[in-house]
Amino acid sequence: MSDYDIDLFVIGGGSGGVRAARIAAQHGARVMLAEEYRVGGTCVIRGCVPKKLLVYASRFRAEFEDAAGFGWTVPQTSFDWPTLIANKDREIARLEAAYTATLEKAGVTVVKSRAVLTDAHTVQLANGDRVRAAYILIATGGAPSNGDPIPGIEHAISSNEAFHLPRLPQHVVIQGGGYIAVEFAGIFAGLGAQVTLIYRGENILRGFDDDVRAHLRMDMEKHGIRVFTGCKVAAIERAGARFSVHLSSGNQVSAECVMFAVGRWPNVAKLGLTEAGVELAKNGGVAVDEYSRTTVPNIYAIGDVTNRVNLTPVAIREGAAFADTVFGGKPTAVDHINVPTAVFSDPEVGAVGLTEAQARTRLAQTDVYRAMFKPLKATLSGRDTAVLIKLVVDGLTGRVVGCHIVGEGAADMIQVAAISVRVGATKADFDATMALHPTTAEELVTMRQKSASYAREAAE
Ligand SMILES: Cc1cc2nc3c(=O)[nH]c(=O)nc-3n(C[C@H](O)[C@H](O)[C@H](O)COP(=O)(O)OP(=O)(O)OC[C@H]3O[C@@H](n4cnc5c(N)ncnc54)[C@H](O)[C@@H]3O)c2cc1C
Repeated sequence: MSDYDIDLFVIGGGSGGVRAARIAAQHGARVMLAEEYRVGGTCVIRGCVPKKLLVYASRFRAEFEDAAGFGWTVPQTSFDWPTLIANKDREIARLEAAYTATLEKAGVTVVKSRAVLTDAHTVQLANGDRVRAAYILIATGGAPSNGDPIPGIEHAISSNEAFHLPRLPQHVVIQGGGYIAVEFAGIFAGLGAQVTLIYRGENILRGFDDDVRAHLRMDMEKHGIRVFTGCKVAAIERAGARFSVHLSSGNQVSAECVMFAVGRWPNVAKLGLTEAGVELAKNGGVAVDEYSRTTVPNIYAIGDVTNRVNLTPVAIREGAAFADTVFGGKPTAVDHINVPTAVFSDPEVGAVGLTEAQARTRLAQTDVYRAMFKPLKATLSGRDTAVLIKLVVDGLTGRVVGCHIVGEGAADMIQVAAISVRVGATKADFDATMALHPTTAEELVTMRQKSASYAREAAE
């Protein structure tokens, strides 16, 4: 590798790039990493972490309301958006510094610059410097899609800007039905805004189990979020300090803030991929094999830029697997099956494995176990909410192939349930496990009756 300035150049200092750079350096490689914005990437700077902090903030309203049923008198509360944003920004700055320090401690040279490929071994930095590397890792992540070029689209913000609004808008229109749209609907509503969610499909959270989708929508609407499906924003017109949002259905909604969360797109533009000979896949991401190797043997790509499973733990795992494969002498492919996922909505969603619809198309026999109940806490608080727990089981082998939960703590429950699904636990194993009482999760091991699907029951 002596013909090169370094062994590895990592483009992008997000979840995947940072992990890959650190592990490669620990394997003895000479590593340089370029980041054009802030070290930490989407997850730390404008994704998972700040979002979860805002989710926590939004949940206090319900806690204050619920306290009365337990004997508490809560004095008049008030909320200050600038305080929340300033505290959030301080924590993000601390994390960014910690990520940078970890990289430097591992011996990685961090360059604050955009980097582009000029050929299969050369990277050019913004100041014109060129670096020759034996291996190059593309870890440039993704960015919010713009949506259709409708009149007034320039007035819409994305999740990037939502983290930096100068004040909390009182009326928000969000277009999108994916997890980011649904989560921000919960955040804004929990903090006191009136929220209208617009989604062109038939129901929110496409790709999730149909029972989950129906249940979450019902609970969101109960908590005051207006959900319009089967239509989209056709135009945004400024009306003084507000916006008139024209929908394809002919309706019109007035809003102080219009947010689009209509999907994300891999950061592949103007990266010099063509010059280096790197090809794209049909999904728009960089095409890679199971070891994250691109069509050019010394160039690899990991994380959202490959548009496989766009989640932080997946990008991190792919980054570590790349470093172990190329510099650790241990070829490692990442298993993208049974990746647990959560939506930090109100109420929360957690899911792992097959949905009922997927199981019914893939398996000879599918059994479904489902419980819907009022959580114990809601008996005294009086909150109008219900938990949904659903197991999807291979009817021939008894294996639990899917687990879906809507309710408080769903994400944490699913992280644990994912171990069972991964190791192939059967429904009989769940049944033989002693319940832990009184918890929500105990329903996972106490459901005995097979159930018709909730979506089907609701339709009948
Ligand atoms: C609002 C939101 C909420 C999310 N919530 C969750 C969640 O709860 N859980 C979860 O698991 N995932 C969540 N995600 C997804 C998660 O953030 C991503 O899957 C993850 O960050 C992907 O990591 P990555 O390393 O592939 O890319 P990124 O983290 O996006 O990092 C890519 C980095 O590359 C830099 N870059 C791009 N091009 C160049 C270039 N040419 N030169 C130099 N630098 C460049 C970018 O500035 C960026 O810092 C969320 C995303 C968003 C937007």
